[in-house]
Amino acid sequence: MDSTGVAVSARRQPPARRLPTPGPQLRPVAPVGTVACPSCGRRFVSDRYQELLNVCSGCGHHGPVSAPDRIEQLADPGSVERDDHATTPRDPLRFDDGVPYPERLARARERTGLDEAFAIARASIDEVPVVLACMDFAFLGGSLGSASGAMFAAACDDAVAEGRALVSVCTSGGARMQEGIASLAQMARCSAGVHAVKGAGLPYISILGDPCFGGVTASFAVQADVILAEPQARIGFAGGRVIEQATHDRLPEGFQTAEFLLTHGMLDAVVERRELRDLSGRLLRLFTGRS
Ligand SMILES: [Zn+2]
Repeated sequence: MDSTGVAVSARRQPPARRLPTPGPQLRPVAPVGTVACPSCGRRFVSDRYQELLNVCSGCGHHGPVSAPDRIEQLADPGSVERDDHATTPRDPLRFDDGVPYPERLARARERTGLDEAFAIARASIDEVPVVLACMDFAFLGGSLGSASGAMFAAACDDAVAEGRALVSVCTSGGARMQEGIASLAQMARCSAGVHAVKGAGLPYISILGDPCFGGVTASFAVQADVILAEPQARIGFAGGRVIEQATHDRLPEGFQTAEFLLTHGMLDAVVERRELRDLSGRLLRLFTGRS
């Protein structure tokens, strides 16, 4: 006790640590050959988790999916013909935040097996010819740089040239900061691609995964004829903390989730991953006038 009567040991104790909230940021460690659900920690044998399309059968959490797996999940089996149109990204700023941008790209390529943040394929969905353009969050946060913008624009060109519908899956942190304004210019480039698809009378379906933010949400991800999203996907432009700091206001519960956006008219439907292929097929048949 000190002179004020306060127990010194108690007063000097550090504040109680707040336990992290279980969520996508908390990734339980799983033994080799198994996967732990990022939300509830339930463990799966890797093959079983893949059969479940990376969706937890315990809590329903929709886990991340690589772009090539997305294509396989959505397309008719055996119909996929990959054509990524990969180009070399620009490094206009010679950006170096401790790791030079070209080195970051090289690491991302090695880690994901992709040339850029998109994987693109010609395929069919319920026998309707499509071009599928799927983003991969594991590639530099699915960020939109000059090369990935060129890839999406090329996918739009292919759709127009071959009379195919366009289907995209977007999971992105937004513009790629390493490319500065060259990255922001991709929003216009991709929007022009979508405009050409629509001008040709071809349908465009956009599927938003978790997370989808920034310049991607502000452009081609929400310019589709039909906008779908996966359950609990976080979708927005700026992050919630930035908005709270700017508005000096508390954000409502569930802000920037797919369900919240649906109730506010920003989405057409929130769809479980296992339903996406069937629903996309039905929509494409409707748009293309097939029975
Ligand atoms: Zn779970």
